[in-house]
Amino acid sequence: MLPTIFQQAVPILKKLEKAGFEAYFVGGSVRDHLLGRTINDVDIATSAYPEEVKAIFHRTIDLGIEHGTVLVLEEGREYEITTFRSESSYTDYRRPDKVEFIRSLDGDLKRRDFTMNSMAMNCDGTIMDPYHGKEDIHNRLIRTVGSPEMRFTEDALRMMRAVRFVSQLGFSLESSTLISLREHSRLLEHIAVERKTMEFEKILAGLWKQKGLKLLVDTHLYKELPYLGGYGAQLKALADLPGLDTLNKDQAWLLLLTYIGEVDVQGFLKGWRLPSKMIRVRSKELDILKERKTGWTKTLLYRAGLEVALNVEKVYGCLEPSSDFSVERVMEQYRNLAISSRQELDVTGTDLMAWADQKGGPWVKERLLEIESAIINETIPNDKEEIRRWLTECNRL
Ligand code: ATP
Ligand code: MG
Repeated sequence: MLPTIFQQAVPILKKLEKAGFEAYFVGGSVRDHLLGRTINDVDIATSAYPEEVKAIFHRTIDLGIEHGTVLVLEEGREYEITTFRSESSYTDYRRPDKVEFIRSLDGDLKRRDFTMNSMAMNCDGTIMDPYHGKEDIHNRLIRTVGSPEMRFTEDALRMMRAVRFVSQLGFSLESSTLISLREHSRLLEHIAVERKTMEFEKILAGLWKQKGLKLLVDTHLYKELPYLGGYGAQLKALADLPGLDTLNKDQAWLLLLTYIGEVDVQGFLKGWRLPSKMIRVRSKELDILKERKTGWTKTLLYRAGLEVALNVEKVYGCLEPSSDFSVERVMEQYRNLAISSRQELDVTGTDLMAWADQKGGPWVKERLLEIESAIINETIPNDKEEIRRWLTECNRL
C-alpha cells in the first residue's frame, strides 16, 4: 500500500492518464518513500504540456508556467504538476539557457541532479529507475546523474545540494562525485546568496551536521559562503564537536556565531540575508551565552526567556561538555521564577501614580523596574499590598 499522501494524489495521475498522457510521482517524494522518511509534498511530472494540463483540471494556477509547472487545486489540496522537460546548454553556472518541454519521462529524469532524485513512480507503486537510484540509496551514496563535472558546471548549486543531502541523510558522496565537487567548488561563487543560504540552513538542520560541515571544509565549498571564507579552521573545529548533531538549526547557528569570534554579528547574519527576527534572537542568545558562562542567575533567566535560555544551555553544553550544564535544570529553574514577564506584575504604573499621588514621568518606569527586579530575586512576593508596603518602607513612594 502506498502512503496516504500518494494515494490522495492518485486521482490526479489517473485523470492525466485517462486523457492519454503519462504521469508519475517524481523527485524527493519517491526518494523519501524508499527511505521510509516523512514525505512533505509530492511532485508530479507528466507528458502533458502546461496548456493540456490546464484543460484537464478545473481549478489551476500558473505557478511557473515558463518552467512547465501548473498548480492544480483538487479536493482542497494543491499539487504541482510539471511537464517533462529537458534543459539545454548552461552558460552562467546557474540556469539552463532554454527549457524545452518533452514527451519522454527518460529525458526528464536525465536532467535531475542525483540518482536518488531521478526516480519516478506510477499509481501502482512501480518505480522507474534508469539511473539506479535504488541501488545508490541502498549503498547510501549520492551520485550525479551523468558526469559530475558536467552536472556541477551546468548548475553549481547542485554542489551545495549534495552536501545538504549528506547532512540530511547521512549518506556519502560517491567517489567521482566527491572528486569533481572538490575540483569545481569555486563555481559556487556564481550562485545567489539566498539560494546558498537555503541549502546551508538545511545543512544546519540535518541530523548529520558533522558530516555535512566536514565536507564543506574538505571540498573548500565553505570559501564561497558569505563571510565564511576565512574561517576554515574554526569550521573544522566546530564540526569536530561531539554534541553537534544533537543541536537543532537555531542552536547550530548560535554555535557557529560563537566560533567566528568578535565580528559584527548582525552584519554577519545580514550577509546571509536572514530575516531580521532571526538576527535579533541569535544576537540576544549570543549575549546571554556570554553571561551564562559564569552561571545562570534568576535575572539572567528572566531576561533570556525560556526559548532563548534552552537554546543557550544546549549550545553551552556542546561547547563545555564537562561542565554541569543541564537543559532540564534550566527548564525547572525557569518554571520556578516568580514571574516570567512584565505583564504578570501585580502592579501597574497607574497604581504607582495613585499611591504616590504624583503625575507620570520617568520615575514610574524606574520604580517598575525596581519592583520587577525585587520580585524576580524574591525579595518581595508578586502581591499588590506587599509591593506597596515594601515601597513605603523603602521610601520609594
Ligand atoms: P526536499 O525534500 O528538500 O524538497 P527535493 O529532492 O524534493 O528535496 P527539491 O528542491 O524540492 O528537492 O527538488 C525536487 C526535485 O527536482 C529533486 O528531487 C530533483 O529531482 C530536481 N532538482 C531540484 N533541484 C535541482 C537542480 N539544481 N538540478 C537538477 N535537478 C534538480
Ligand atoms: Mg521537494
